[in-house]
Amino acid sequence: MELHKVTLPHRVDDSMAVWEEFKEVSIKYKCVSLGEGAPGMNPPQFLVDAMIESIQEGFNQYTRIMGNPLLVNKIAEIYGKKLNRQVNPLTEVIVGVGAYTLLGSIILALIDPSKNEEIVIFEPCWPCYYDHVQISNAVYRSVPFKLVDGVWRFDPEEFRKTLNEKTKILLLNNAQNPTGKLFSREEYQQISDILKEFPNIIILSDEVYEYLTFDDNEFIHFATIDDNFNKTISVFSGGKLFNATGWKVGWALGPSYLVKAIATIINALVYSTNTPAQVAISKSLDKLTQKGYLGNEDQTYLEYVRSEFQRVRDYMVKEINENMDLPIKALTCESGYFIMVDITDVIPMIPKKYTESHDFEDLQEGESSCNLNRVYMPDGRIPNDLAFCRWMAVERKVMMMPNSLFYYKDSLYKTDNYVRLAICKGLDLSAKAILRLQGKSDQ
Ligand code: PMP
Ligand code: GLN
Repeated sequence: MELHKVTLPHRVDDSMAVWEEFKEVSIKYKCVSLGEGAPGMNPPQFLVDAMIESIQEGFNQYTRIMGNPLLVNKIAEIYGKKLNRQVNPLTEVIVGVGAYTLLGSIILALIDPSKNEEIVIFEPCWPCYYDHVQISNAVYRSVPFKLVDGVWRFDPEEFRKTLNEKTKILLLNNAQNPTGKLFSREEYQQISDILKEFPNIIILSDEVYEYLTFDDNEFIHFATIDDNFNKTISVFSGGKLFNATGWKVGWALGPSYLVKAIATIINALVYSTNTPAQVAISKSLDKLTQKGYLGNEDQTYLEYVRSEFQRVRDYMVKEINENMDLPIKALTCESGYFIMVDITDVIPMIPKKYTESHDFEDLQEGESSCNLNRVYMPDGRIPNDLAFCRWMAVERKVMMMPNSLFYYKDSLYKTDNYVRLAICKGLDLSAKAILRLQGKSDQ
């Protein structure tokens, strides 16, 4: 039979390998995975019960494009308080298939593909933004985070120089993936002041980890600084909030003219988001902050989750900094699902088969290799962090993510001496990973 010959438009680079390599390698080499940010714990029972109830109550058909009324009303009530304002549930809230689809839809809705409009992003960042930039035909511009005394910072002057009359969107991610950085009030005020020179820039604020701040650090919503609500879309994730990342329900809040534009894309691509999950979330949002979780009168569900994640963070940081046979160092992590680890001193120890070739696997005849990231540093080297992660996966059976994959493909700022470790997998699995990393066990 003759195969069809179709020409496929090149909308985005195939960056699926960013995630696929680590899933495949992890399965093949029987790793404990500290790679992808999917939590080890199940969602709370009250959410699961609410889902069953919603299905039994008959919430099983399509619902309103911009979100089920029960959910948008609840979001307007709760997030209105967080954003210090009255939020109109019908015009200033939109629900979508996870924060992921919302972010992509917002960028598609706001960028004019014929005008070389620019999106400014702080790097390193969550790599899915790069796909959203490409699919919308925007131009990517970045501002680097640099480590200053162990803290990720940006240079305000460098940020200012990145903005110009073509800048359409500033994409902020607070709390930040992969660095674990929280923007301080001073930093946000600096950004807000600089943006006053460029009044047409729209701010897209990805806040999916807002509830996961450690050490009583303050979380700031950019929309609450000055009058930024009027030009900011803030994005949240029900999947993250309830430890149910597979549910894929997210929401965004912003001024009605922006929300309306996003709705046109959601209507075109999705139409309506999972109805019973929306209703279940609407019944459960108040319970996140009610005392008495797991019979503990002093504890809410969110406090419980935060303390569990912080416990894992503290354990991993201590073990990595004090009890390793490899010279690696954990960095400060203020929030979110991940810690970064500095691998500079271990680089000379990585075997050449990982640093000199992508074909590090000892394959039997006829056996195909994993779906690998065949990427290079600007000077043509295989990234050291990628080589390190492959080495650790094969030899110590722990999967981690290389930080160099969190930069745009030809970014000037790419560095390859950090790796990202998930702290969302629970203490048991994290302890297992640490024992393996220490070379003490492969169980
Ligand atoms: N933003 C960031 C920074 C993330 O790390 C993720 C990870 N999934 C998302 C958005 C997507 O969220 P969701 O699972 O709700 O689509
Ligand atoms: N956001 C998560 C991460 O950074 C999950 C992966 C993904 O969204 N593709 O690991």
